[in-house]
Formats: sequence, C-alpha cells, structure tokens
Amino acid sequence: MAYTYDDQNIFAKILRGEIPNDTVLETDHSLAFNDIRPQAPIHVLVIPKGAYVNYDDFARNASDAEILDFTRAIGEVCKIKGVETDGFRAISNAGQHGVQEVPHLHIHILGGRPLGRMLQQG
Ligand code: AMP
Repeated sequence: MAYTYDDQNIFAKILRGEIPNDTVLETDHSLAFNDIRPQAPIHVLVIPKGAYVNYDDFARNASDAEILDFTRAIGEVCKIKGVETDGFRAISNAGQHGVQEVPHLHIHILGGRPLGRMLQQG
C-alpha cells in the first residue's frame, strides 16, 4: 500500500514558510526545530523536507541522498544539543497505533532529564 501525503499538515506548512518554527538545524534535505510542546528539557523534531508520511514511507521511498542527509542531521542535532554524555531517546510515531499527530515524518529527539521506561500502558 502506498501512503497518501496530506500537504496541508502543519509540518508541510512550516516547510513552505507559512508558519514559523524555532529552527535548530537546516540542511539540504532536512529541518530540525524545537517542539512547540516540549516533553523534556531537550525536545527537537527532525523532519525531511520531502513529502514522506512516516519512517516506513521514507525508508522505502526516499533517495539515498535524502536518507544520508536526514541521518546525518539527526547526528548533528544530538551534537548541537550535547546529549552524548547523558543520553537521549529518539522516537518516531506512525499511524493510529503509533499515535501520530502530524502525518509528516518526524523523529523526536528527547533529552535533558531521565526519561523513564520506553512504554507505559494505555
Ligand atoms: P506526533 O504525535 O509524533 O505526531 O508528534 C507531533 C509533535 O509535533 C508533537 O510533539 C507536537 O507538540 C509537535 N508540534 C505540533 N505543531 C508544532 C509546531 N507548529 N511547531 C513545533 N512542534 C509542533
């Protein structure tokens, strides 16, 4: 099944410059910005500039250049935010079971405090 991309999602609007964002890093194919409702002292979202719904869509359909750029951007964000020493969590929610709010691929980089166990019930 192919994913259908909704170009009215909020991250598409950010990429078109229609709404502002608090940019951490911009590269040829990726953008990283602070989450508007941070769940931890460090909470950055890394997104590809291309129209990909989720990680699965990106991993299957993005070009090598986009995948390389996006992966390196995640590493650069970790360096900028200085999470190497104390650690961090990278999360990508997808679809209904993943409780994805915005249907444009984003990796959450969370850190700055102990984050607890990975999953809670419910
Ligand atoms: P998810 O549930 O994985 O789709 O997460 C979507 C994330 O996007 C949430 O953590 C929101 O706080 C965040 N978010 C929504 N709108 C914005 C925005 N305009 N700028 C930055 N982050 C946003």
